[in-house]
Amino acid sequence: MTALPITFDDVAAAHDRIRAAAHRTPVLTSRTANAAAAAELFFKCENFQRIGAFKFRGAYNAIAQFTPEQKRGGVLAFSSGNHAQAIALSAQLLGVQALIVMPEDAPAIKIQATRGYGAEVVLYDRYKDDREALGQRIAQERGMTLIPPYDHPHVMAGQGTAAKELFEETGPLDMLVVCLGGGGLLSGCATAAHAMAPGCEVFGVEPEAGNDGQRSLRSGEIVRIDTPRTIADGAQTPYLGQYTFAVIRELVKDIVTVSDAELVETMKFFAGRMKIMVEPTGCLAAAAVLNGKLDVAGKRVGVIVSGGNVDLNSFANLVLGQNA
Ligand SMILES: *Cc1c(COP(=O)(O)O)cnc(C)c1O
Repeated sequence: MTALPITFDDVAAAHDRIRAAAHRTPVLTSRTANAAAAAELFFKCENFQRIGAFKFRGAYNAIAQFTPEQKRGGVLAFSSGNHAQAIALSAQLLGVQALIVMPEDAPAIKIQATRGYGAEVVLYDRYKDDREALGQRIAQERGMTLIPPYDHPHVMAGQGTAAKELFEETGPLDMLVVCLGGGGLLSGCATAAHAMAPGCEVFGVEPEAGNDGQRSLRSGEIVRIDTPRTIADGAQTPYLGQYTFAVIRELVKDIVTVSDAELVETMKFFAGRMKIMVEPTGCLAAAAVLNGKLDVAGKRVGVIVSGGNVDLNSFANLVLGQNA
């Protein structure tokens, strides 16, 4: 095995770096869920993390390692989702200027939230402008450092702290189930599992409409697809990263998929039975476990619940459907 982009030491160092700023999120259990899955489930609830998703962990870990020169230049990110807010808040806490490049049709509430953390927002036309070129130009003109949402060792190590905290609380587990977009969370969590719970099998879960990760793992090379149509907007990435895939191919047992309908059922379960609000992407891992996609019977299983950022109207429409 060639050296992987991150080691458990990186995850442990990330944990020390973010500990004072991040929340230690709760691990919830549910007898109803255990009965439905015939397993013992431990839900690590990152919907209670700062900004409402695990992405704060990786963003803070990355910016905290900037050199003084990088700190003076500021941080740049492309995102209309949780990564934007994670970068904006982390930068504010660390006294670094942040600039977020967002599509002009991003939800107004997300643009406002990002500005609310003190970040400058530059809007672009996703049908006309070349986002990469725009970003490159700004980064060069202003001497800013770009932090990508998943394919960066500091981001991956930061995300792995979610699983580190889970194992600290539960002890060894037989399985760990993690949602998958670009693979920052899965690669970090698999690194923690490998070191802290030898023998624990790690699985990724992605939307049925976009199973590029599953195809990549099974074929041994990164498969690219068109942007998938799914309600799991945090997992609409069309391909895994170079760094994340290097870890995933070594440490992840398999990747399974769930349908949008199964995600909606899981949102209902979380709201109705566990009293928590989880965004569609945050339901991926639980949906796989609760719908028999993995052989969990009789096992102790960690389930990462990745985030809770869904606006109330969409939440009501999804959960209540025609009754809304
Ligand atoms: C970004 C995100 C994901 C996917 O994470 P990756 O590191 O890109 O695999 C899953 N859930 C939520 C809530 C997210 O914000």
